Amino acid sequence: MKKLAVLGATGSIGDSTLAVAKLHPELFDVKLLSAASNANKMANLCLTHNVNFAYMFEPQANAELAKLLAQASTQVLVTEAEYLACIASDEVDTVMAAIVGAAGLMPTLAAVEAGKTVLLANKEALVMSGALFMQSAERSGAQILPVDSEHNAIFQCLPPECQRQLGYCSLQQHGISHLILTGSGGPFLTKPLAEFNNITPELAVKHPNWSMGPKISVDSATMMNKGLEYIEAKRLFNTEKSEIQVLIHPQSVIHSMVQYCDGSVLAQLGQPDMRTPIAHVMQYPERIRSGVQGLDFNQISQLTFVEPDFARYPCLKLAIDACYSGQAATTVLNAANEVAVQRFLDGDIAFTDIAELVTQSLDGRNCETSQLDIEGILALDKESRRHALSWTSSTKA
Ligand code: NDP
Ligand code: MG
Repeated sequence: MKKLAVLGATGSIGDSTLAVAKLHPELFDVKLLSAASNANKMANLCLTHNVNFAYMFEPQANAELAKLLAQASTQVLVTEAEYLACIASDEVDTVMAAIVGAAGLMPTLAAVEAGKTVLLANKEALVMSGALFMQSAERSGAQILPVDSEHNAIFQCLPPECQRQLGYCSLQQHGISHLILTGSGGPFLTKPLAEFNNITPELAVKHPNWSMGPKISVDSATMMNKGLEYIEAKRLFNTEKSEIQVLIHPQSVIHSMVQYCDGSVLAQLGQPDMRTPIAHVMQYPERIRSGVQGLDFNQISQLTFVEPDFARYPCLKLAIDACYSGQAATTVLNAANEVAVQRFLDGDIAFTDIAELVTQSLDGRNCETSQLDIEGILALDKESRRHALSWTSSTKA
């Protein structure tokens, strides 16, 4: 039986992970759940899944959870140190990293450093920490399995040796020409650019195909999500610049592809439902039921593809450029974007200001530093957030 921890248990990926776990009570023992603020939902999850340990990042929510679970068998961990120690302990062997944003870095790294099997949804942790994350996995022997649907699709289409050597495999040596990262283009694929200034948070979080948390939904609308995924792909699959292509595929049926040198293209197809990639990694390399139906090809009238337009999606260009500008650039990009998205969701800045704010955060910065250590990454993240919070827009939201 797998001893499962779900970090970010109250979110969208958390829901899907626990739904798959519930289908297979003989395979998964849910040992630890964490979240930030939603104590009521967490208490219900702990009771439903008979969870051993729980932790809420916000102290008030953690105290509330302890009250709610006073009569239950779940132990509510009191300090962050206890929580990180629990992730690293023998109580847990498989960790779903599904906290949103940079907040996921330290708990995810704790799992990586302790050599756990890490099911990685929290792409921001990988983007902000650069080489350090994969190096740490190599040192500890942690197995990283990609949950993000595109990376999971690519992973499924790779030769077994590349799957085993994630982060270090040479694609070229395995006859791979390039990876094709697909994305839907989000809700504003055909919206006239002149109307972009009127985009509200309500419109931006309505993704046409996927149901996700608010931050990644806004990232999908700006295509910063695809940019973060581009950086994620570089780190996971050790790609050169010529080895990744981004392609808009509005139907979200193909989740990404691998082009081989003989002209073959391998693709993974499926419903836009995260339970599929989650089930794939949870019992990898075995296949288990996810609760998702297969595709009905009679219902798919067309599969279309188009190159992304950087005028429509400046955030995608910013992320691709940051990917080749040195390690500090991706840390700054991630922090600035997180603050910008939150400020947009709070009604503080306009949709188009997200790209402006990230651009100004990166402008004039020397990112050619040698590799940052964890303290350097955290300090740069903090400073970039401060800068992004104080940024003022020339247009009013
Ligand atoms: P949600 O906003 O739905 O959920 C976020 C989760 O993180 C919540 O459980 C939240 O807790 C928790 N959380 C936030 N801060 C902390 C913290 N400091 N400590 C512990 N828990 C915290 O996000 P999603 O599930 O959509 O996304 C999660 C991650 O997965 C993101 O990195 C995203 O990019 C990635 N991802 C998501 C996909 C999707 O389809 N949703 C697809 C591919 C990747 P609370 O609710 O209690 O505040
Ligand atoms: Mg994705």
